[in-house]
Amino acid sequence: MEKPFAELDALYRDVVLDHYRSPRGREPLPAPDVQRRGFNPVCGDEVLVALAMDGDVVREVQVKSRGCAISVASGSMLADLLPGRTRGEAERLIEAFRALLRGEEPAGDLDLGDLDALRGVARFPVRIKCAMLPWMTLRESLRARERGGEDAQDAAATTEEARG
Ligand code: ZN
Repeated sequence: MEKPFAELDALYRDVVLDHYRSPRGREPLPAPDVQRRGFNPVCGDEVLVALAMDGDVVREVQVKSRGCAISVASGSMLADLLPGRTRGEAERLIEAFRALLRGEEPAGDLDLGDLDALRGVARFPVRIKCAMLPWMTLRESLRARERGGEDAQDAAATTEEARG
């Protein structure tokens, strides 16, 4: 068993531990508009991000994670933060979190919520991929949705191929 929180300051450990033990947004969505899977080969983390959209706004999110504490907690925080945001706001959140993980202060007055508790990960470059995995998968989902149509569902794309 890894020591999942050795990287994190004690101050933030409880926040991360809470997300890791009770990840938010695990409930499958009845009818997602788009979903994508992500994989971090360095650590073995896997994630599914599914979105239900109202136009440009993310209405509901499912994040299903399997992996280390940091990737699971980061995905849970994503599920907390994302509902109600537009695609543009989601992209700004991704960039702000990425900046935080580079050890920078995120630009603007964006509230990163519990993500702030992962700032200690910046000191452990190998863990940055773990923390970013759900967010990169979210970005893939948003872009797939933007492209629209059959590309929005990976399952649907497989069905198309099978039909030839
Ligand atoms: Zn990991």
